[in-house]
Amino acid sequence: MTAPIILVGAGQASASCAAKLRALGYDGPLTIIGDEQAAPYQRPPLSKKYVSGELALERLFIRPLSWYAEQKIELRLGTRATALRASDRKLTLADGSELPFTKLLLATGSRPRQLPAEIGGTLGNVFTIRNLADADAIAPALVPGAKLLVIGGGYIGLEAAAVAAQKGLDVTVIEMADRILQRVAAAPTSDFFRALHRAHGVTIREAMGLAELIGTDNHLTGARLKDGTILPADLAIVGIGILPNDDLAQAAGIDVGGGILVDAQCRTSVPDIFAAGDCANFLWQGQRTRLESVQNAIDQGEHAAACLLGQAPDYDPIPWFWSDQYDVKLQIAGLNRGYDSTILRPGKRPLSQSIWYFRGDTLIAIDAMNDALAYALGKKMLESGKPVAKVAIADPASDLKVLAQ
Ligand code: FAD
Repeated sequence: MTAPIILVGAGQASASCAAKLRALGYDGPLTIIGDEQAAPYQRPPLSKKYVSGELALERLFIRPLSWYAEQKIELRLGTRATALRASDRKLTLADGSELPFTKLLLATGSRPRQLPAEIGGTLGNVFTIRNLADADAIAPALVPGAKLLVIGGGYIGLEAAAVAAQKGLDVTVIEMADRILQRVAAAPTSDFFRALHRAHGVTIREAMGLAELIGTDNHLTGARLKDGTILPADLAIVGIGILPNDDLAQAAGIDVGGGILVDAQCRTSVPDIFAAGDCANFLWQGQRTRLESVQNAIDQGEHAAACLLGQAPDYDPIPWFWSDQYDVKLQIAGLNRGYDSTILRPGKRPLSQSIWYFRGDTLIAIDAMNDALAYALGKKMLESGKPVAKVAIADPASDLKVLAQ
């Protein structure tokens, strides 16, 4: 019997790859190995409507379990892959069993950076949000009046802050950098979200480091900040970035460096082993790139399917991303890497605006807050690659529909 194609990691990228393999006509054996108990699910709601209790568990699943059976996809859940031997194409599982494969996709995702134990990172009631178990542990602690400390003003931390503020918690966000969202967005976007959170009663402290989390009996009671301030806290959510899960690949002798290194065909440095999603560091526009987004997990997962079957062009995505905070939907198209100027364009309704990122005269990205039209038309402009005049974008009276033609 032929050995299967194995997809390691039962997340967004594997689910997308599996569906595409079948859609492209691959009817051979196909196995997904996942260390979580749950079938592939969407993570974005974990810091939004799932943790707030507005979205039921069933709504998170990417496909019903019956779909995997219908498609003859073997789903092995609660099973960690512990070693990969490329030379004789064997994958070892935590129970010691060995699975042969013809080709293998690493779609192992990423994990949150943790605060070190020496500064209280392992105290009870200190959470990160990556998986269902994390969100299920946080949800009961979101009680009105409780004091929540969010460490890190990135998207996940701010989304959690928004959910908690709406539930009546007393929320403080501390951010080490000069401004929230500094790593991912320009100052006007940071300004917008700072003002939004403050309007909902959240305290935001920027350019402020954490000295340590304090607790008794393994229970968090507060935090000491770098300026000596002591903040009482009942719980903390740590959102200080993620690290790609590239250890399995590294131990197998596959080239890694800020993720598993792949080419534009999802190929790693070892023949017949591919990678996609959060864990993959790919070549895009001549630069090493790792995207932490649903768009990339879906598109690169599908692309990997074509690569596994040897039928793919180069991967050339238009990245997109979103974040929901209170009643604001932020939609991002493109990647603002290397921007040297921005233009703020007011929207047509309250709390609506867009930020347009340029490198020289080239439009490279857009952040649209409550402005779906600006997002859609900005994305269209990025896709077409046609020149976009800065003066026209800067003129609030100009018609984006005309500019996007
Ligand atoms: P994952 O979905 O993480 O799946 C990888 C799976 O592999 C995991 O289940 C992991 O446990 C498993 N695994 C790892 N190692 C092994 C092993 N050795 N053996 C077996 N299994 C293994 N993106 C957006 O675009 N918009 C958003 O608003 C947004 N919000 C988010 C909110 C939260 C709270 C989180 C955590 C992420 C959010 N993201 C968002 C990011 C998005 O969810 C990820 O980019 C996407 O899930 C990546 O998919 P993936 O398949 O690469 O990895």
